[in-house]
Amino acid sequence: MSFAEVIDPQFGTFFMGNAPVKQLATGFDWVEGPVWFGDAGCLLFSDIPNNRIMRWTPSEGVSIYREPSNYSNGHTRDLQGRLISCEHGTRQVTRTEHDGSVTVIADEFEGKRLNSPNDVVVKSDGSIWFSDPHYGIMTNYEGFKSDQELPCNVYCVNPDTGQIEAKVTDMACPNGLAFSPDENTLYVADTGTMFDENAERCIKAYSVSDQSGVLKDGKAFHTINPGCADGIRVDTDGNVWSSAADGVHCISPDGNLLGKILVPELVSNICFGGRAKHELYITATTSVYRVILNRAGVQRP
Ligand code: MG
Repeated sequence: MSFAEVIDPQFGTFFMGNAPVKQLATGFDWVEGPVWFGDAGCLLFSDIPNNRIMRWTPSEGVSIYREPSNYSNGHTRDLQGRLISCEHGTRQVTRTEHDGSVTVIADEFEGKRLNSPNDVVVKSDGSIWFSDPHYGIMTNYEGFKSDQELPCNVYCVNPDTGQIEAKVTDMACPNGLAFSPDENTLYVADTGTMFDENAERCIKAYSVSDQSGVLKDGKAFHTINPGCADGIRVDTDGNVWSSAADGVHCISPDGNLLGKILVPELVSNICFGGRAKHELYITATTSVYRVILNRAGVQRP
């Protein structure tokens, strides 16, 4: 496997022999937010600067799913399989209903506009957790340059009541987020303020066993190098898979780097997909890649 850098020998067993890292599509400007729709057999992902969501299937290749997309970034699905989207342009989180209509899930906190929701995950109780850094309002490249009204937090929304809570309030710029398989731990990647090279850029692990109020005392879990963790996902064994400047890094539940999948472009995000959630889809700058694993992701449906 010329594409894999094995640091812990077990990482070598995570692959399917001769399965390559395959480029599925290219020609975009900055791809992000991959989400697998198993029932539709397709991958959706954002091409943020071009203000569109793309769709890829093995037989049909790439087409436009939604344009304009309100500069959408991260996506996931809820327990009913509906698309949940973070939108920079409207500074909101939305849900696309099965009939195609769009419902706003969150757009403010304590009377102030959200910054630019970045990435999102749904817990098994249906609650929607999303990060809200300010990247999408800093310039006109990935949204609309405008004033920041709130600190960069992670929020939890009850989609039935609309109640929104700030859950992580001690990061510079929370970005990717994922729950451990038992959902007792929330991993959050801090990508730091864009112009501060000394900013702390660490994946932190927060205990969510007590869900009330703000999550405190997040433990430093792992610092990605080179680059920083943007999108992160967890497999069924609790390993954390993270984007990095040189590819995708795999980190054990105790925080040790097991190995890397080397990708020729800067990786932004990843998701598990395919029939058995054993395919890792990788959004990386101008292209989307896939590698088939001997591991499965925690991802629904
Ligand atoms: Mg992100």
